[in-house]
Amino acid sequence: MGPLPKRKVSKSRRNRRRAHDALTLNHLVVCESCGEYHIAHHVCPKCGSYNGKDVIEVDED
Ligand SMILES: [Zn+2]
Repeated sequence: MGPLPKRKVSKSRRNRRRAHDALTLNHLVVCESCGEYHIAHHVCPKCGSYNGKDVIEVDED
């Protein structure tokens, strides 16, 4: 036999691995300033704040 895994990866093990990828790809947090969801470690697109401080100008409707 060649260099193959000994056992088939179970559904639960495969799903756990992929769930981790999804989390790190688009990690959402609640904005400290406006309470909307935005991507962690990014400026909030709703209010333009980052880490509780306004860093960019955002048009308010
Ligand atoms: Zn915000």
